[in-house]
Amino acid sequence: MTAQLIDGKAFSARIRAQVAEHVTRLKADHDLTPGLAVVLVGEDPASQVYVRSKGKQTVEAGMASFEHKLEADTSEADLLALIDRLNADPEVHGILVQLPLPKHLNEDLVINSIDPAKDVDGFHISNVGLLGTGQKSMVPCTPLGCLMMLRDFHGSLSGLDAVVIGRSNIVGKPMAQLLLGDSCTVTIAHSRTRDLPEVVRRADIVVAAVGRPEMVPGDWIKPGATVIDVGINRIDAPEKGVKEDGSVKTRLVGDCHFDSCAAVAGAITPVPGGVGPMTIACLLANTVTACCRAHGLAEPEGLTA
Ligand code: NAD
Repeated sequence: MTAQLIDGKAFSARIRAQVAEHVTRLKADHDLTPGLAVVLVGEDPASQVYVRSKGKQTVEAGMASFEHKLEADTSEADLLALIDRLNADPEVHGILVQLPLPKHLNEDLVINSIDPAKDVDGFHISNVGLLGTGQKSMVPCTPLGCLMMLRDFHGSLSGLDAVVIGRSNIVGKPMAQLLLGDSCTVTIAHSRTRDLPEVVRRADIVVAAVGRPEMVPGDWIKPGATVIDVGINRIDAPEKGVKEDGSVKTRLVGDCHFDSCAAVAGAITPVPGGVGPMTIACLLANTVTACCRAHGLAEPEGLTA
């Protein structure tokens, strides 16, 4: 491996410490405790794990955590009524509705019913528009985490060629906007892109957000480029043996083939331990930012885009 490892675990711990420091100051100087409300509808096991982890880290940062667990068959009217109450609650500065929602609920309607100032996921249409026009917004957590790591590693990103693979609303598109905001020359590649290897080979920065295990091999990477691997994919790992139920054990891999990319890249994020831990750290950062904005206070430096 020649690439420098961008350690998301260590970096996210630094961000969380910064958040906690700011929370301590808000409590001491303004008698304010930033609060994050997380709404979970149904019992999707992965969502339950995320929600637990978010609640735990919120409390560890000194903030207030409000968890709302609703039955899978909750009506849209009941969910919207809860969001209305959270919008009006002065102790709640951030609201996150865990996605995906059960099929009978209209995700767009639900997300757009959150007060944009409390939309710490940055998915509300107003925040999407503000980000797209370069105005102050709430920025989606995963791309914000990627941007923080890139700024930390490169300093200025100005003029660099960046290729984002994937055009989802939660990662690819906001990532491209953020890179554009930092004056990169940005290409968004996707499933219909012609000659993806050639497109990726031009990039000084590659952000892969596809959801296809180890899709990007090292020979697509320009020597010295920075590779940010957003993908989280579970694959069979027969080398680890079998579980108690006889099924093959699994392991997590990214969208990039780590060993071959690391042999060519200048820097790379691992999976796990790269982008993943940054996402919750940025959620906490967004909650503190939302709290400061709600009270007209100075925002913590380095925690927003
Ligand atoms: P998505 O399915 O919404 O979007 C995937 C994108 O990849 C699409 O825009 C599609 O056009 C593109 N794509 C599909 N096949 C392609 C191909 N062969 N070549 C080029 N592009 C192709 O996924 P998403 O929600 O953006 O997530 C992407 C990955 O990032 C997933 O693995 C997900 O688990 C992971 N993720 C990680 C975090 C984190 O915290 N680290 C957060 C969100 C998503």
